[in-house]
Amino acid sequence: MNFKSLPQLLDYFKEESTCIEYYEHIRWNGDPACPHCGGLNPYKTKRGYRCSEKECRKDFTVKVGTIFENSKIPLRTWFAAIFLATNHKKGISSVQLASDLGITQKSAWHVLHRIREMLREKAPKMIGDTNMVEIDEAYIGGKEGNKHYKKQRSNENPNLKNDGTPYQPKKMVVGLVERGGDIIVKHVKRATNEEILPLLDNHIAEGSEVHTDESNVYHKVGRTFTHKTVVHSASQYVVGNCHTNTIENFWSQLKRGINGIYHHVSEKHLERYLDEYANRYNTRNLTSQERFEYFLEQSESVLPYKNLVN
Ligand SMILES: [Zn+2]
Repeated sequence: MNFKSLPQLLDYFKEESTCIEYYEHIRWNGDPACPHCGGLNPYKTKRGYRCSEKECRKDFTVKVGTIFENSKIPLRTWFAAIFLATNHKKGISSVQLASDLGITQKSAWHVLHRIREMLREKAPKMIGDTNMVEIDEAYIGGKEGNKHYKKQRSNENPNLKNDGTPYQPKKMVVGLVERGGDIIVKHVKRATNEEILPLLDNHIAEGSEVHTDESNVYHKVGRTFTHKTVVHSASQYVVGNCHTNTIENFWSQLKRGINGIYHHVSEKHLERYLDEYANRYNTRNLTSQERFEYFLEQSESVLPYKNLVN
């Protein structure tokens, strides 16, 4: 099996049975395991498997305990959705996905919500062992001018929008990227040493070389890491090998994506969007198929089905 494009994927996964066989291989690699008790020798049944453990004996299919559980949407459509959502650099909206796959927008919204669950960062990453690390901060939130009048910040009361609801200031995010390697993006409440330094200690290997701009929040970075800066306020962007261009390119991609596709991101969902964009960036050197398989391997759901839907 080999696919580089959506039509090739759809051509290969014509039958639901092909999808199931393929997904069983990805998830179990030939050794089906009971998702209820972990039992390893289930019987094959007409509709899937039955656990052979005396205490359990439950029926299951490969979809139980994954983002596909209890979904009426065929796996073929799910696979196409995963392919599209992980291959578009800027992400894909539920409106676009619905029209691409011929499903309702409500279904597309649920599908994307669960795919995003799959894209969550599962284990804390460490970066910077061998290469330089760039750190920078950015502010996420739509441009005032692009918003509907009622949603714009009120001129009379800067704490409110024109419709009288509270005005939400832009949300600050910090990005740590290893040059040629992975990125980590986190939401922080404000730009202070107290918020930012622990992030660096948790994610950057000791002894790494760290590049930032001249901002005050990075003044203490040199205590733990080799610290070099470029002075952006003096139009200084590259000094020797010191720059923050990698992280700034990522910001422009993230902002184009979030402003253009999601329009508005609530505080509650921001971390998930950040993980989504970071994960896409971190798989940029894989082929479309490798990326698809990499994410499919992470489709066991970490949350119970109820939480995914709510
Ligand atoms: Zn069992």
